[in-house]
Amino acid sequence: MGYRGRFAPSPTGPLHAGSLVAALASWLDARAHSGTWLVRIEDVDAPRCIAGMGDHILSQLAALGLASDEVPLVQSQRANVYQQTLQTLIAKGDAYPCQCSRKDILTALEALGRERPRHAELVYPGTCRSRTEKSSGVADSPQPAWRFRIDKTDTLVRWQDRRLGSQQQDVEKLVGDFPLRRADGYATYQLAVVVDDAAQGITHIVRGEDLADNTARQILLQQALNLPTPSYLHTPLVLGANGEKLSKQNGALALETSNPLAELNKAVVALGLHPRVDAPVGVALAAWVQEWQHLYNPAHD
Ligand code: GLU
Repeated sequence: MGYRGRFAPSPTGPLHAGSLVAALASWLDARAHSGTWLVRIEDVDAPRCIAGMGDHILSQLAALGLASDEVPLVQSQRANVYQQTLQTLIAKGDAYPCQCSRKDILTALEALGRERPRHAELVYPGTCRSRTEKSSGVADSPQPAWRFRIDKTDTLVRWQDRRLGSQQQDVEKLVGDFPLRRADGYATYQLAVVVDDAAQGITHIVRGEDLADNTARQILLQQALNLPTPSYLHTPLVLGANGEKLSKQNGALALETSNPLAELNKAVVALGLHPRVDAPVGVALAAWVQEWQHLYNPAHD
């Protein structure tokens, strides 16, 4: 199968200098492989998304010369597909209902003598693991969340990142059984992203390094669903003045799409490529594709 890559923004705010780095890197990688580049609007977490922001991001991308090769997939229209996949996992015994609140999880961790991590998500201690679908389901109130049951035999996941090198994560230890569907009925990012990457035939994932930590969970889900694992490349993050990932909260300014070359130049510098002065955008993009090819050597992927 030919190369298929994607940029998958969540429409919680406009594209900024940080997210443009991931967008541009995924576009350059697709072009360097003579592949297809898709944009997917990840508005599955509806309460966090802003109406109309998906279209706004698409127009920002287009203004920078980055247009999706196919009609963008919109996750909010795919709730049925996520639900069907959840049913498949339930039928295989790979998912179970959970009604633990955050407080319940904290109490259980305390009882086990495990420290509460300061920043990371809570490691789910498996409280509801022994429940079966019969003991919960529709009659339960409130609706349960559904968690992925991590198979004890393969909790250490290893993968090769094209930029970061060999990676591994013990998902059982560092994350625990993770949510597939939330109690409010929305599919989680982990479930939706795995379902959609497979549905769209994505062969190469290029995204920000802040998402690298999710990769092991996604590989476990791909394996449970008999789906192929794409190749991964996590791009450098652009940091704000406070040293944290650039976001609206720490000073990311809206992109100046009236000056696309200036914005693209900032993004390529973050990627270790050379800025171009006074070149038409199309010429600059073509030059960066060549440079990217050299840097990440797609001929040998
Ligand atoms: N929607 C995710 C985000 O904007 C990215 C998902 C992905 O690339 O896997 O953070």
